[in-house]
Amino acid sequence: MRGMPEIARRRSIPVKVGKVCVGGRHPIAVQSMTNTDTADVAATVDQVAALALAGSEMVRVTVNTREAARAVPEIVARLHDRHIDVPLIGDFHYNGHILLREYRDCAKALDKYRINPGNVGMGRQHDDNFRAIIDVALDHEKPVRIGVNWGSLDQALVTRMMDDNARLPHPKDANDVVMEAMVASAVESTALARSYGMGEDRIILSAKVSGVQDLIDVYRRLAARTECALHLGLTEAGMGRRGIVASSAALAVLLQEGIGDTIRVSLTPSPGGDRTEEVRTCQDVLQSLGIRSFSPSVTACPGCGRTTSTLFQEMAADIQTYLVSSMPKWREIYPGVENLKVAVMGCVVNGPGESKHAHVGISLPGTGEEPKAPVYVDGRLMTTLKGPTIVDDFNAILNEYLETKYGNARK
Ligand code: SF4
Repeated sequence: MRGMPEIARRRSIPVKVGKVCVGGRHPIAVQSMTNTDTADVAATVDQVAALALAGSEMVRVTVNTREAARAVPEIVARLHDRHIDVPLIGDFHYNGHILLREYRDCAKALDKYRINPGNVGMGRQHDDNFRAIIDVALDHEKPVRIGVNWGSLDQALVTRMMDDNARLPHPKDANDVVMEAMVASAVESTALARSYGMGEDRIILSAKVSGVQDLIDVYRRLAARTECALHLGLTEAGMGRRGIVASSAALAVLLQEGIGDTIRVSLTPSPGGDRTEEVRTCQDVLQSLGIRSFSPSVTACPGCGRTTSTLFQEMAADIQTYLVSSMPKWREIYPGVENLKVAVMGCVVNGPGESKHAHVGISLPGTGEEPKAPVYVDGRLMTTLKGPTIVDDFNAILNEYLETKYGNARK
C-alpha cells in the first residue's frame, strides 16, 4: 500500500464556526448552500438536513428578506429537533445591516455571517452598513466571511484602481487590475473590520470568480497578502460535468499549493436535481488529492477489449453498489473505514498489480480468461475465487477484513 505525500498547508489563523474549526491545522472543511426559499422553513430544513447528512460541515442559507430572517431561528430549532447541529451561515447582500439589527434572534441563531463588501452600500453608507454588520457579529460573538465576488465587485474601488493604473507609464492589463481590486477589496475590508474591533480569528476571506485561471491567480495573490483563513470556490461553475470539472481543476491546483481552508463547489442543479452532489464533489476533490478521506476508495479499471462481455461490468457494479450502500452502516461500526482502498480490476494485466496496492483487491476474469478471480489482501494473494458466487464470496472477504481491521476500534 502506497501512502500519499502530505501537502504543506499555507499558514492561516483558525476561525471557529459553530462546532467546526476552519483554518490553522484543522481539516479543510466542506460546505454547501441551499437553493430553497429560506422563508419556506420546511423545505429549507429538509435541504439543510440532506446536505448535512451527505457530509456538508457547514451550510449557507440566503437571508434576503424579513420573512427569511424571521424563519432562521425556526429552521435552527427544527434542525436541532432532528439532532442536526451543522453550523448555519447567513448569506447577506444589500440589506444585511438592516436584517441583522432588526432580527436579533436570526443574528443569534446563525453561526456566521457572509458579507459581500461590493454590495453593502456606496461611499459613507458603505462603511456605516459594513460596520453595522460587524457590530452585530461582535455583539453575538460570531465570525464573518468577507466574500468578494467579481460579479459584484466594489465599483468605487475598481474605478479608483483603474484610474491609478491608467496614470502608470506602462498600465497593466485590465483583467490584472480587476484581480488586484478583488484582493484589495478583501484586504481593505479586513482592515476595516479589524478597526471596528473584530479579530482575524473571526474573519474568513473569499474572492470568487468564474474562470479557472482567474481563480487560481486571485487566490495566489490573496494568500500572499493575508493570514486569514480562506474559503475557496469557483463561482457560477456551471451545470453537470462542466461545472464539476472546472471546479475540480481550479480547486486542485490551489489545494495542492496548500491554499484553502474550506471549499464549496457551486454547481447549477438540473431541475429537480440532487443538491447534495456539490457536497460529494467537494469530498471527491479532497479525497482524490489525498487530503481527506470520506469513503472507501475504489480503484476500478475502465475495461477494454479484454472485457467485452458484460460480466466484468456487472461484477464491478455489484461490488461498488455493495460498498456505497454499506457505507452509512460501516461508518457507524467501523471507525476509519473511509481510509479503506479496494481494487476491482478487469483482468490479469494490471489487476494483480493494482490489487497489491489496495487493502483488498480482486481481478475479475477478462474475456476468454479462465473464470477465476485472484483476491489480494494487504498485498498478498489470499485466495482465488471461482464459479457463480465470486461477488458474494468477495464481499464476504471484505466484511471479514473490515471486522478485523476496523472492528477493534469500536470495542
Ligand atoms: S486491467 Fe485488463 S481489462 Fe482492465 S483496462 Fe487493463 S487490460 Fe483492460
